Amino acid sequence: VNRPDYAREARYACADPVKLVVALGLEKGAQRQSKGMLVNCPVHAERSPSCSVTKGRDGTVQVRCFGCEFAGDALSLIAVRLGLSLRDRDSFREVLAEAAKIGGHLSLEAEIRGGTPAPDRKPLPRPELPPERDYPPIADILDVWARGGACTDDREICGYLVFRRIDPEQVAARRLCRVIPDPVPRWASYRRRSWHETGHRLIARAFDPTGRPRSVRAMRVRDGDSPKRLPPGGFKASELALLNESAHCMLRGKAQPGRVIIVEGEPDWLTWSTRTEEPVVGILTGTWSERFAAGIPRGATVTIRTHADDAGDRYAQAVIDTLNGRCNLRRSEPEAA
Ligand SMILES: [Zn+2]
Repeated sequence: VNRPDYAREARYACADPVKLVVALGLEKGAQRQSKGMLVNCPVHAERSPSCSVTKGRDGTVQVRCFGCEFAGDALSLIAVRLGLSLRDRDSFREVLAEAAKIGGHLSLEAEIRGGTPAPDRKPLPRPELPPERDYPPIADILDVWARGGACTDDREICGYLVFRRIDPEQVAARRLCRVIPDPVPRWASYRRRSWHETGHRLIARAFDPTGRPRSVRAMRVRDGDSPKRLPPGGFKASELALLNESAHCMLRGKAQPGRVIIVEGEPDWLTWSTRTEEPVVGILTGTWSERFAAGIPRGATVTIRTHADDAGDRYAQAVIDTLNGRCNLRRSEPEAA
């Protein structure tokens, strides 16, 4: 007889972030978010909420504080809130029982407390997954791009680019980036502040594997504590890459280039795209897939210029795994910034 996996069932039991927050008395001062709530962190003292309690990709609750190191699942949050330990056996059982109770599974709670598995009980099913998101409305993307200003007309943007040794004239002439227009759609925001306020004023288009513009990436051009680069808030951002004109033609099937450069992140993509006419594909977290690989011509020489760190190695490996035997692959470190 298999012993029930109570930890898993307990996570499944309280998979509703809002219900969990309320049950733990964390709703005071909390803010609703698309996937859950932002609450005052139970670990570090704070007056404005920075701890996110959301439904994760597997359907269970994920917790992450932006103000301290605290991160975990529903069980970690329950433990911290109730002063219990996940390491001590009795204490952990208490956490599991509490999770079952919060989820309204009282017989599971009793079973966990009693320590005797009920015969023939079916384990709790996996909670429903969060709905698959889509990209922002395509009309929004086309409109923001069409209304965007030239980099050369904006002093702040020019300063940002020149500081990074990127030629604003080339950025404008090659239509790589634009300055965000005013007004911007609601999704052009980060934690309720618009990209104008957070300083994310430089935008590049993000393309799907067929070369269609599906989203944008915004770059922060002044000091701040928000992420340096952002996708539109609340929308899908995976399987998108930055493309220069040659790379765009390639993925649209209009050109069969013999050489392709793959770089990591917005700054490297901009740097390389201002210096070469060859296709430059800028990959980001969640970009690479078989579909992108399928857009690279057979026999092309592909230079992979991802960073010399763990993330860069993972990106490179994903490219190698999908193109090995089809293209001539070279791994080359990017120039020092
Ligand atoms: Zn915290």
